[in-house]
Amino acid sequence: MMLKDELRYDLVNRCVQCGYCLPVCPTYMTMERETQSPRGRINLVKMVAEGRITNLEIIKEPIDLCVACRACEVACPTGVEYGKILDAAKLALEKRKVYTSSTKLIRNILFKKVFPKQKVMVTLSNLVWFYQKMGLQKLAHTTNALKILPNHLGEFEEVIPRITSPSNRGKNKEYQKIKSPTLKVAFFQGCVMEAIYERINHYTLELLNLANVDVVIPEKQTCCGALHAHSGEHDHAVELAKQNIEAFENLEVDYIVNNAGGCGAALKEYDQLLANDSEYAERAKEFVNKVKDISEILVKGEPIVFKKGINEVVTYQRSCHMTNVQKVKDEPLLLIQSIPGLKLAEMQRPNMCCGSGGIYNMIHYKESMKILDLKMDTVKETHATTIITTNPGCLIQMQKGIIDQGLKGRVRSVHLVELLAEAAGIK
Ligand code: SF4
Ligand code: SF4
Repeated sequence: MMLKDELRYDLVNRCVQCGYCLPVCPTYMTMERETQSPRGRINLVKMVAEGRITNLEIIKEPIDLCVACRACEVACPTGVEYGKILDAAKLALEKRKVYTSSTKLIRNILFKKVFPKQKVMVTLSNLVWFYQKMGLQKLAHTTNALKILPNHLGEFEEVIPRITSPSNRGKNKEYQKIKSPTLKVAFFQGCVMEAIYERINHYTLELLNLANVDVVIPEKQTCCGALHAHSGEHDHAVELAKQNIEAFENLEVDYIVNNAGGCGAALKEYDQLLANDSEYAERAKEFVNKVKDISEILVKGEPIVFKKGINEVVTYQRSCHMTNVQKVKDEPLLLIQSIPGLKLAEMQRPNMCCGSGGIYNMIHYKESMKILDLKMDTVKETHATTIITTNPGCLIQMQKGIIDQGLKGRVRSVHLVELLAEAAGIK
């Protein structure tokens, strides 16, 4: 394939360079450089595709530093499909092996040996549980042992939630069968959600039960492949997508439900990923038509009966991939506003990314933290004591913001289903 085609010149050429996307771009806001804006990135890709720049490596840094929030797509008046341009550029760079060996090593371990292997994920989270249980956290902090971890991983140790104990893990599968359900759904549990936030998956299933929705959990499901698809690991993303389609396609369910904005966006783009695959293209379309976020299902089910009010000021940090890719906007707000006692204070620029970006915050720590600082300024203005999110990456990033801003103990970050479960009295 010619480089021009590889870089999707057909899409790049649609950009009219108007700049309407600049004010919504978090990397342009924080770095204030044209090359770190959507327009600048598209222009560089265009110049390489046209052969006006012959060194492909010129696009590497701007492409790498894009947090992939896709706010620019929503702002664009001419409908430039920036997400496709970004993925194509990453694939072209990956093919020519321009990444350093340490970045490749981290990505190889995470993408091939960790995320798609549920057993590895659970074993790792059991080790973290042991580390938390034995009080090793305190020791690690007093000895500064965390400083030896690569890529600022140590900076995120404090934000890891309390992990479910190995003996309690899996209890969420023992939910009651509903005799006359309003809806039947299959649950996509997500590799990170199931390993680290098993508690949130448990609440999700309990809430679905309360909404009179019957649930099945296909065993052969795997990682959604979002990180792979957005890092140039196209073949691996395709492999994972096919496995998930096979795991869900023969179930008699109305919908396939997930509770992570990033995973849901990846699942909803399986049709694009497999558009040229004669065996899977149609199957992917059928799969995509059934994918829904938990909030979309909960507003369709029986109304949840809340047992207590939550008398707090809350603010809602939107997941970029849920808002900009899945286009799920109203349902989370409807659910938030249905909780008695709660006061919603919207932050300025509520759609702006928090800087989490999958593993962006680990690989590009400084850039991510600049975006987070901007976000936290707007959070503080609301005087909210609870930040609601709908994605595990945002949840961790918000927790990091709370700690860094000295708000620990006064402000908490929760997934929307945690708050709903709290008001519904679910343990
Ligand atoms: S995806 Fe987000 S960070 Fe990347 S160019 Fe678009 S707005 Fe900027
Ligand atoms: S991507 Fe869209 S909004 Fe941004 S400069 Fe190009 S045409 Fe304008």
